[in-house]
Amino acid sequence: MIVIMQPGADLAQTESVIQRVRDAGLSVHRSEGVMRTIIGVIGDDSTKEQLRSMLEAMDGVERVVKVLQPFKLVSREYLQENTVVDVGNARFGGPEVVMIAGPCSVESRDQTLTVARAVKAAGATVLRGGAFKPRTSPYSFQGLEEEGLRILADARAETGLPVVTEAMDSRSLELVLRYCNMVQIGARNMQNYTLLREAGRAGAPVLLKRGPSATLEEFLLAAEYVASEGNGKIVLCERGLRAFDGYTRFTLDISAVPVLKKLTHLPVIVDPSHAAGKRDYVAPLARAAVAAGADGLIVEVHNEPEKALSDGPQQLREAEFGELMRKVATIATAIGRTVPAVSRV
Ligand code: PEP
Ligand code: MN
Repeated sequence: MIVIMQPGADLAQTESVIQRVRDAGLSVHRSEGVMRTIIGVIGDDSTKEQLRSMLEAMDGVERVVKVLQPFKLVSREYLQENTVVDVGNARFGGPEVVMIAGPCSVESRDQTLTVARAVKAAGATVLRGGAFKPRTSPYSFQGLEEEGLRILADARAETGLPVVTEAMDSRSLELVLRYCNMVQIGARNMQNYTLLREAGRAGAPVLLKRGPSATLEEFLLAAEYVASEGNGKIVLCERGLRAFDGYTRFTLDISAVPVLKKLTHLPVIVDPSHAAGKRDYVAPLARAAVAAGADGLIVEVHNEPEKALSDGPQQLREAEFGELMRKVATIATAIGRTVPAVSRV
């Protein structure tokens, strides 16, 4: 249930609504919009129902609305305006299409810095790179862990690009928060509810990837776990569903983009790299994602993909990434959006 305050409601009126809700044993999520304050009321349904008419009668309250979707705080019913998530200079959910790029894994200082410089020069505004890698086989490269995070922090210091990297559990989350700007919760952990809650409590921006067999409702309920802990800085990422056709690694669900944009106020980005699994298909999927309304892309780039310790076949070479950026910028312009750094060159 949400309480929509009148545009002119004063602080005391808002505070007394919040107090009334808390006194009834329910919890409150407050959002300050451009025009008005919105108060999300979370908790037992029958208590909410009893409280509803009392809240409606309070000074400064415009109306009280029931949120029908199972996901509440992340739904469009709760907030009509798009949420903008700031990560360094990048703004997810605004008019610009945000480009995240970098290697699948941080393998060495040299490799990471080389790729970071190249993606920055091509116009990316956020650097990616895995230090904790969720690998299908326990015998595959598992990441450089804290040493990898130090390398990412050095790449940020040199290029000025904010960094997103994956945390797989509480221990890695704590480390990631120490070194990076945004924490990624990967597809395999989308339903790790303990980790989602911890990321919510941590308060840093979260990049949440859709599980390969998750419905959109399950995906949004995973985001709700983060939001319910008081952290609304969530960027959703579609990265492909379990496929039955071996020509791609996963099937990119392009329809997830407009559907999510309708259901939620959160920014939605697309990962064409993990969906494609092969370099040749990354740029066409990236173009399709932007045309469908994605707020950004996350793309894997490597200086020597043939020597990569993970996901070599899908990582673009630096020049290929530059080409992708130019094509994506053209599509963005065609639909009234921009890719900031590219439009400056
Ligand atoms: C990644 O982005 O490095 C990754 C492992 O992606 P996903 O969780 O989507 O498989
Ligand atoms: Mn990868």
